[in-house]
Amino acid sequence: KGPDPDLVSIQERMATVKHKILVLSGKGGVGKSTFSAQLAFALSSMDYQVGLLDIDICGPSIPKMLGLEGQGIHQSNLGWSPVYVDDNLGVMSIGFMLPHPDEAVIWRGPRKNGIIKQFLKDVNWGELDYLVVDAPPGTSDEHISIVQFLKASGIDGAIIVSTPQQVSLIDVRKEVSFCKKVGLRVLGVVENMSGLRQPLSDLHFMKVSETGEERDVTEWALEYMRANAPEILDMVASTEIFDSSRGGAAKMCLEMDVPFLGKVPMDPQLGKAAEEGRSCFIDKKCRASQLALKRIVDKL
Ligand code: ADP
Repeated sequence: KGPDPDLVSIQERMATVKHKILVLSGKGGVGKSTFSAQLAFALSSMDYQVGLLDIDICGPSIPKMLGLEGQGIHQSNLGWSPVYVDDNLGVMSIGFMLPHPDEAVIWRGPRKNGIIKQFLKDVNWGELDYLVVDAPPGTSDEHISIVQFLKASGIDGAIIVSTPQQVSLIDVRKEVSFCKKVGLRVLGVVENMSGLRQPLSDLHFMKVSETGEERDVTEWALEYMRANAPEILDMVASTEIFDSSRGGAAKMCLEMDVPFLGKVPMDPQLGKAAEEGRSCFIDKKCRASQLALKRIVDKL
């Protein structure tokens, strides 16, 4: 029996892609797609040629996070063309094929595997420095397929996204064990929503009475600081939202002998950028997130 022709086609397509990175998470809602999107923006802001592939067939959120909702894909004799955000950032998602963004995709395993295979062999990415693949949460059929398909053409490994909460970290252990089982290198774990960072000048100050009534005293508080200690207004307020006393993802990485890539703060501006489909790299207020993401890229 000869080599699988699909795997051969995937290998041919992937021959012009230098690095392939899979982004995983144990749970939904931890910020995996936000991270994938902003990682792609980070890499493209560093002038790399970047592709972002969304294989979350049942909940594709990448088109919205890249500001590409409502776009469709085009076919040429070279294959499916990605949708471009910039000359050096192309995106592919099942979301581009749905007639309506609210449309539910209810597909069984084989059909999902079929479309993933097609994404890998039929999308005309051209020369890429990085292909970032945003996977669905957990470890299901799609994960086994993508790893199998990409291993044949050399995949760098997986980044696992988690929050600092124990419930999320427990599932990271499962992801790490999945990676070990399928022979996929763990590039590292990212702790997202690691602590709230917000410029002090963006905070609202409330005075709470004994009966629980809240009064907004922001104007007064800002004026007071401006008059007495203006340097405070340039500071960033920082709050640990989740209990990090048990050491969070960094400690777990030590125990599991996988790299810890760093923390991305809970940053309302980053959340807003993601909701509006923008890069956080063009917004001065996202500085904390920008630095965090660039430090992570440096470790890849
Ligand atoms: P997942 O892909 O893991 O299901 P999402 O990326 O869709 O999670 O993120 C869930 C929500 O959390 C989104 O509304 C997103 O804007 C927000 N979010 C994710 N990461 C952050 C962050 N670091 N700071 C603020 N909001 C965030």
